[in-house]
Amino acid sequence: TMSDAAQQDRNVNRAAMQVTDEVAIEISAMNKWYGTFHVLRDINLTVNRGERIVICGPSGSGKSTLIRCINRLEEHQSGRIIVDGTELSSDLKNIDKIRSEVGMCFQHFNLFPHLTILENCTLAPIWVRKTPKKDAEETAMHFLKKVKIPEQAHKYPGQLSGGQQQRVAIARSLCMKPRIMLFDEPTSALDPEMIKEVLDTMIELAEEGMTMLCVTHEMGFAQAVANRVIFMDQGQIVEQNEPKAFFNNPQSERTKLFLSQIL
Ligand code: ADP
Ligand code: MG
Repeated sequence: TMSDAAQQDRNVNRAAMQVTDEVAIEISAMNKWYGTFHVLRDINLTVNRGERIVICGPSGSGKSTLIRCINRLEEHQSGRIIVDGTELSSDLKNIDKIRSEVGMCFQHFNLFPHLTILENCTLAPIWVRKTPKKDAEETAMHFLKKVKIPEQAHKYPGQLSGGQQQRVAIARSLCMKPRIMLFDEPTSALDPEMIKEVLDTMIELAEEGMTMLCVTHEMGFAQAVANRVIFMDQGQIVEQNEPKAFFNNPQSERTKLFLSQIL
């Protein structure tokens, strides 16, 4: 695709992306149902700090549900999910802790349309973290510079392009100083010419050592940035491997079929 091609001309500093042996997320024997529908089946997944994991798979395979379970936007029914040493349970105190350590970026940016870009970025730090307004604004400007749109701070989301809005959404997450970032198809609602600017922002995060789980079909991004690609189908992790082996030598028929459809 065009965006994949655009990706190759960026020099990605993989040497800066160090995987540590410290565990960031541990999921074991995890199952989830929507009513009677068994949407996630026996998920086992350990993510170390510094990993960049790309999750792909057909529509409806449970990718979003898995991502959403990790910050407790969805509840699992059996097995364990441990994030940064905290087990996800019905204890609300844990949920607050998880939400502040795990940032999330969605396909639809979910910015508040009636708040300025700056206000979108300072809302949670001020109200959830009790950060003084001035400090929150300084932090917000820092991250808006980082995603290269500080000049948009006093505009409203509707005045920005899709790519700019998604970069605001990333900056807004970063303002909470997360240690893990989850992305759920962050570029799939964007026009091709805006995909690259969002992927570049994500690459920079990876180069700074952020632990990232990204649901995306941007296979150029996967090849350039991921240390591991996971393929899901029908609620299961069917296959996972480092990118080269995953793309050049897929093992299961389901993975082969999926790759033949998207590459
Ligand atoms: P993906 O992100 O891989 O497309 P999802 O995790 O969104 O998959 O969905 C997995 C399956 O669960 C789909 O069959 C979807 O229809 C179903 N599903 C998703 N959300 C809900 C929900 N809130 N209630 C019931 N079924 C759901
Ligand atoms: Mg999805």
